[in-house]
Amino acid sequence: MRLVLLGPPGAGKGTQAKLLVEHYGIPQLSTGDMLREAVAAETPVGLKAKAVMSTGNLVSDEIVNAIVSDRIDKPDCANGFILDGFPRTLQQADALAAMLEEKGIGLDCVVELAVNDDQLVERVSGRFTCASCGEGYHDVFKKPKVADTCDRCGGHEFKRRADDNAETMRNRLQAYYKETSPLIGYYYAKGLLKRVDGMGEIGVVHEAVRAILDSE
Ligand code: ADP
Ligand code: ADP
Ligand code: ZN
Repeated sequence: MRLVLLGPPGAGKGTQAKLLVEHYGIPQLSTGDMLREAVAAETPVGLKAKAVMSTGNLVSDEIVNAIVSDRIDKPDCANGFILDGFPRTLQQADALAAMLEEKGIGLDCVVELAVNDDQLVERVSGRFTCASCGEGYHDVFKKPKVADTCDRCGGHEFKRRADDNAETMRNRLQAYYKETSPLIGYYYAKGLLKRVDGMGEIGVVHEAVRAILDSE
């Protein structure tokens, strides 16, 4: 299964992607995670992306397309993948279509997670992740079961993203509405778009996504 999760920052793409990874055994391809890794490792791509990401603007299509193109050639993507945070512009969507066509494959489904802006700001401002395994948490909506201990790996170190602040979030939302939301129409026209109400609890949203994917 080749799937795109589409939605604004904080909609729950990463959270749902991780649940789908467990269920379907295909990898999550998060361009945000890959770019943050490049920034941390101070690679040439990371050095270019760092300043852009800290303002909440989008990294260039050229850089992101190249990262994805390399990643989907890896053997673990042979049976499918979940794209989380890519494509984010019409140019990226066209580039993805071309990459897949070259391999003689296509997308099966694009799931749009719909969440209103107030809730997005609340989700992003309370977001943190386990520093060892990357499991996602929230100060209010998804606390670790045992305080300061990761449910998944037992780690005690957590991190917060530098761009998860109110100021940057405004730019990220603007970038979403301007650059990314046109993809909703783009994929609708291709007959691939499925809209899911992302306002419910994590488990409820997961069931809704599963129901769609299992009926494909
Ligand atoms: P995205 O990848 O779309 O930016 P995340 O999956 O990282 O979003 O979720 C953003 C924050 O909201 C995280 O702290 C996550 O734990 C929390 N979250 C995700 N889905 C829900 C939900 N359905 N209800 C409440 N909180 C959620
Ligand atoms: P969120 O899901 O909260 O929006 P991501 O982790 O997906 O955050 O992305 C973080 C930042 O990384 C974005 O604000 C942007 O600067 C950059 N980024 C991630 N994916 C892309 C992409 N497909 N195109 C351009 N920039 C991207
Ligand atoms: Zn962990």
